[in-house]
Amino acid sequence: MNPDQTVFDTLIIGGGPGGLTAAIYLRRFTRNIALVDKGHSRLGWIPVSHNYPGFPDGINGKQLLENLRAQLGRYGGHVMPGEITDLRLEDGLFVGDCAGPDGDLTRLRAHTVLLATGVADAGMPVARWDEAVAAGAVRLCPVCDGYDVIDRRIGVVTSEVNPVGHALFMRTFSEDVLLFERSAASVLNEEERRQLEAANVRHVESALVGVSMSEDLKPVLHTADGEDYPCDVFYPMLGENARSDLAAGLGAETVECRKLLVDDHLRTSVPGLYAIGDVTRGLNQIAVATGQAAIAATSIHNTLPWALRTT
Ligand SMILES: Cc1cc2nc3c(=O)[nH]c(=O)nc-3n(C[C@H](O)[C@H](O)[C@H](O)COP(=O)(O)OP(=O)(O)OC[C@H]3O[C@@H](n4cnc5c(N)ncnc54)[C@H](O)[C@@H]3O)c2cc1C
Repeated sequence: MNPDQTVFDTLIIGGGPGGLTAAIYLRRFTRNIALVDKGHSRLGWIPVSHNYPGFPDGINGKQLLENLRAQLGRYGGHVMPGEITDLRLEDGLFVGDCAGPDGDLTRLRAHTVLLATGVADAGMPVARWDEAVAAGAVRLCPVCDGYDVIDRRIGVVTSEVNPVGHALFMRTFSEDVLLFERSAASVLNEEERRQLEAANVRHVESALVGVSMSEDLKPVLHTADGEDYPCDVFYPMLGENARSDLAAGLGAETVECRKLLVDDHLRTSVPGLYAIGDVTRGLNQIAVATGQAAIAATSIHNTLPWALRTT
């Protein structure tokens, strides 16, 4: 099949757990889909997830991605490596320009689009980042793995978005939680300081200026006043930016962190344009992305003209 000449039922942008699960559902509804993925799923960062249901011993993120791709392959689907660089409406169809890894350009046309492009973490420079994340010394999702760091010494750095929430959340798991800020001028108000004190979270007043790793791969947090704070685990909770530009360019409504607003069927405010997973407002979790994928794919299938079977 020549993708340039085909009108797809659905163009799926993003091949993380959300996009891949939607693709599996739509292929099993015998729909004609194109799935384009740039290859930076956050799933690829997860050393072991212990909260995704069905894997009592945990599952490695890359392995889960491989399993989903293999499952899609069983139904004749595959991932097109590349990036959708522009998305527009022409004569009632969505048109996406896909830049392939070799610089080749393919124009993909579709009746509907499902955006599953995820978020980019704001992050901060941390020495030996890849190793530290792989070893669980740096973590990005308290909901995912707070349970896995029970009774460790936990450093959290925060920003204006939800300044004390993450540190208070971590107190469920450890008595030894330190809260850092990035800027010299504190963003905490009196009420937030009182909440930290009541929960016995240590607020470090001097700004966090760097994070290095000890020889045994433990984070050491350095502040502007020259102090060092060795920790067991570091959570840089500095916010995120949803990769929603393609949808926003078509007029889709966004909210905080550029996340997309969707309804119960995962429809954006642009007819025919759906969004699921981290790019939408809600909890960044694999189970959420895959659950939303099931709802969106079924809604898309029921909205498109019936694909009547002939033998
Ligand atoms: C360190 C870490 C640990 C985590 N642990 C857990 C855990 O234990 N449990 C849990 O439930 N969640 C965990 N999460 C969160 C989980 O990874 C995300 O919620 C999940 O991956 C979201 O899936 P998604 O499909 O929405 O987006 P993603 O998995 O981020 O996939 C988005 C994909 O879209 C691609 N893309 C973006 N723009 C384009 C474009 N224009 N064209 C083509 N492709 C594009 C990206 O390259 C990427 O491959 C963790 C996250 C991190 C970073």
